[in-house]
Amino acid sequence: MSQNIVVKTLQNDRFARTTEVTINDKVIQTPNFCTLVQNETELDSLINLNMLSETKHLGTYTARVFDVPKVIIPRLENKFQVSIANLKSVEEPFLKFTRKNILIIDPSLEYLLYEFHANKFANAIKQLRTEPKQLDVLLKYLEERDAKKEKIKESEYESWKKAFHKQFWFNLDRDQSARNKFAGDYLDLETICNTEVILPPVPVVDSEGMFDIARSINSFAKTIAPRTKPCATYLLFQKTMLSNDSLVAKVVNYLENDPTQLTIIKIKNLDIWTAGCVRQRENYKKLMDVMFEARKRDPEKIFMALESWYVSYASACYGYNIVSTTMTGFDRDSEFGSNTFGSWFDPDWMYYISFDELKEKVLKNTNHVMPCYCSVCKKIKDLSAVSRDDWYNFRREHYALTMNEYMRQISQAITDRTIELARDKLANSQLALLQSLIPRQ
Ligand SMILES: [Zn+2]
Repeated sequence: MSQNIVVKTLQNDRFARTTEVTINDKVIQTPNFCTLVQNETELDSLINLNMLSETKHLGTYTARVFDVPKVIIPRLENKFQVSIANLKSVEEPFLKFTRKNILIIDPSLEYLLYEFHANKFANAIKQLRTEPKQLDVLLKYLEERDAKKEKIKESEYESWKKAFHKQFWFNLDRDQSARNKFAGDYLDLETICNTEVILPPVPVVDSEGMFDIARSINSFAKTIAPRTKPCATYLLFQKTMLSNDSLVAKVVNYLENDPTQLTIIKIKNLDIWTAGCVRQRENYKKLMDVMFEARKRDPEKIFMALESWYVSYASACYGYNIVSTTMTGFDRDSEFGSNTFGSWFDPDWMYYISFDELKEKVLKNTNHVMPCYCSVCKKIKDLSAVSRDDWYNFRREHYALTMNEYMRQISQAITDRTIELARDKLANSQLALLQSLIPRQ
């Protein structure tokens, strides 16, 4: 088992706790918010936020494998360049940031099914790999899929694609040496990307058969992962998993028996705050129940959610210690809004409002102040004078600070032994249905 993670419980309140987690000599406070960084501008924003004293509950960040050549690699290449002004590295702010913050590379293998980032993915593998044929198996898969797309009707393509994806993983699972080479090569890729936690390269799971493959990749990865870094258990699901009771039961059983210290779970396109998702919410709660029980047995265990979207707050109150979303809070692949003033996350509603709605709200306030206390919003004196470029950064920084503030509030409630009040915060928001995820007592 990994020796690289030390978990110290600070405060306990029934089903919730605050901890200090040390990973590779870096210390974070939980509950913790981990930001997914998708481009250079977002990383700059996060570096700026890190200099504020209020950001005690940030400290982890994640990047997807295919974004690394643009987001992380240039910074590392520039780090030896010295600025004439102060004789320090031109990347000094980044280097200072990396000395405190933990980078977690997301293997992102769901994009073997979803096509959104396929080109970026193929290019990144070619750019990052250190040996000529490394991970050719993935490139071949992507090429074959593209070729087929050209040849068959759109209506047939979707079901062919799903079957082809499944076949890829089942073939890999049957051929042990191919699977082992794939896993080894992928861990190398994550290491090249400078990850500080290893995530086994698992498929996106929608059935018990795929779950078995994810399980075997998880156990094999632990036997070959570098000893200098912790290797997590990583489980990646399609959201249909939450309506599949027997799959949930299998996952619960696995989590009960897995001795790994850090477990990371991603459920794609999670949208259980909506009406009609009763069963899905119950199953999400079941997963958190087992996390709570596991932590009771072994306080050194921690759980992290990736792409937890609007469910982040409720997750951080109960099952999970670290939650993560994109820097806008939207965890769905979309081009929407790239050319407009993007919407703003309302801290009280715990939901997005459009830029126009925000403008109306501001006009109603005395002195036309922003309806938020974060240090970014406090700086905005005249919303209608903000440029589109500045707004791009402001709303992201505001969102990360809001998540940091939520984590601080949860932490304070645990210290005050009033964690059940977290249900009230949800009750008064647009996410009232998520109350049921947090125990009453
Ligand atoms: Zn704000």
